Amino acid sequence: MSHPLDGRHHCVLVIGGGQAGLSMSHGLRARGIDHLVLERDEIGHEWRDRRWDTFCLVTPNWQCQLPGFPYRGGDPDGFMRRGEIVSYIEEYAKSFDLPVVEGVEATRLRLTPHGFLVRTTRGDLTADQVVLATGPYQVPLIPRIAERLPESLTQLHSSQYRNPAQLPPGAVMVVGTGQSGCQIAEDLHLAGRRVHLAVGSAPRVARRYRGRDVVAWLDDMGYYRRGIDEFADADAVRFRANHYVTGRDGGHDIDLRAFAREGMWLYGRLSGFRSGSFRFQQDLRKNLDGADAVSEGIKNSIDHYIAVAGIMAPTEDCYVPVWEPDQEPTALSLSDSGITSVVWSTGFGRDHRWIDVPIFDGRGYPTHDRGVTSCEGLYFLGLPWQYTWGSGRFCGVAADAEFLANRIDLVYRGGKSHEVRWLAGAPRGGYENDDWVAPRTVA
Ligand SMILES: Cc1cc2nc3c(=O)[nH]c(=O)nc-3n(C[C@H](O)[C@H](O)[C@H](O)COP(=O)(O)OP(=O)(O)OC[C@H]3O[C@@H](n4cnc5c(N)ncnc54)[C@H](O)[C@@H]3O)c2cc1C
Repeated sequence: MSHPLDGRHHCVLVIGGGQAGLSMSHGLRARGIDHLVLERDEIGHEWRDRRWDTFCLVTPNWQCQLPGFPYRGGDPDGFMRRGEIVSYIEEYAKSFDLPVVEGVEATRLRLTPHGFLVRTTRGDLTADQVVLATGPYQVPLIPRIAERLPESLTQLHSSQYRNPAQLPPGAVMVVGTGQSGCQIAEDLHLAGRRVHLAVGSAPRVARRYRGRDVVAWLDDMGYYRRGIDEFADADAVRFRANHYVTGRDGGHDIDLRAFAREGMWLYGRLSGFRSGSFRFQQDLRKNLDGADAVSEGIKNSIDHYIAVAGIMAPTEDCYVPVWEPDQEPTALSLSDSGITSVVWSTGFGRDHRWIDVPIFDGRGYPTHDRGVTSCEGLYFLGLPWQYTWGSGRFCGVAADAEFLANRIDLVYRGGKSHEVRWLAGAPRGGYENDDWVAPRTVA
C-alpha cells in the first residue's frame, strides 16, 4: 500500500510514518495541501519491531485519539496489545489513503534558496515546508559500563527484548526502572526467571484509585490539557522520567516491593562493574520511597479534586509498603549470582545529525515553540511534551498536528507567521528514566 516516490517538488514533506507523521498527513489532507510522508521502514515499525511480545499500552485505549480516527474497539478502558496497536495505525493510514512512501530514509536536510532539500536513500526531494516526525524514542542508550562486562554475558537493550526464551538460561540483570525496565522485569519474573533489578529514580503511579483508572481522573482534572508554558521549568517537565505502571492483563500497579517479596532481588542504581561484580549506589530505599511518594501525591491530588467537586467515589486506604530493604547491597558477584544476561532499560536519545539546519541549542535539543522551529517552514511533531503530556503519545498528537497544520496552511497561503518563542531544553539522560546515563543525545 506504499505510495510511489514521484521525485517531484512537494509543498510539504513529512519525515516519519508513525502516529505523528500520519496525524500530520491527515491534517494536511484535510486542508488540501500537497504532501508526501517518508517512512524508512514500514508504517507501525516502532510498535511492531521494537516492543516485547507481551507489550500492552500503558495508557487506556480511549486515549488513542488519532485525528479523525478515535479508538472504536469494544474495550475503551482496556490496553491494546502490540499487534492491535500496529493494526490501529495501519488501519489509520489505509482508511484515509495517506500518501506514505515506505522504505525511504531521509539522510540529509538542508535549506537552499529555493526551499528545503531532502536527501533520501532513493534520491533528492524538494519541498517548501518540512515536518520532522521521526519519533520521540529513537536511539537506544546503553551506558558504557556495558563495554566492561564479560563477553560471555548476553546484553540487550529494552528495544531488542522480545521474551524470556530469547535469553540464555540463568539469572537476568535488568538495569533501569522506567516503564520498559519495570515491565520487562515483570515479564521475566512471571516466567519464573531469577531477576536482579537495578532500581533508578523513576516515579510510579497507581493504576486505579477510588473506583477508576488514574488516567481517567487526571483527564477529568485537566492534567492532559496543561501546556508546557504553564510550568515554571519546562526542561524539568519535558525530560523527567515516565511513571511506571502497566496495562498488562487488564492493567495493574507495578510495585517493586511486591516483586521483592516474591523473590526478585532489588538494588540501587548501577554504578559500575569491578572485580567481577556489579556495583550499586546505596539509594534503593530512597528510590522506592520516592516512587511511592509520587504515587501517593497523585492520589492526594485526586482526593482533593473529588472533595472540591463533591463527587461520590469509594474511599481507599493509603498505600502501606509491603517490603523494605533490610540492607543496601553495594555489590553483586557475577559468578555467585548466576547472571547470564543483562537487559539495559536505560532509555533512548535522538539522532539529529542528518538535519543540517541551525535550529538546535547547545545541547542538541531542537529549539521550538509548539513544534515550530526558528527556521521558517520547518517543524517537529511528536516530541515528548512538545506542548502537552500527550504530545509524544496517542492522546495529544492530534492537537499538536492540528496546530501545525494551521501554521503550515498559513505559510502555504503566503501569510506571515508570528514570532517564535524558543522553549529550549535538553535531556540530562535517557528519556525513559535513569539520569545516571551520561547525556548522549546527539545533534
Ligand atoms: C516502550 C514504550 C512504551 C510506550 N507506551 C505508550 C503508551 O502506552 N501510550 C502512548 O500513548 N504512548 C506510548 N509510548 C510513546 C509513543 O506513543 C511512541 O513512542 C510512539 O511510537 C511515538 O510515535 P511517533 O509517530 O511520534 O514516533 P515513532 O513511532 O517512533 O515513528 C517515527 C517513524 O519515523 C521513522 N523515521 C525515523 N527517522 C527517519 C528518517 N530519517 N527518514 C524516514 N523515516 C524515519 C521511523 O522508522 C518511525 O517509523 C511508548 C513508547 C515506548 C518507547
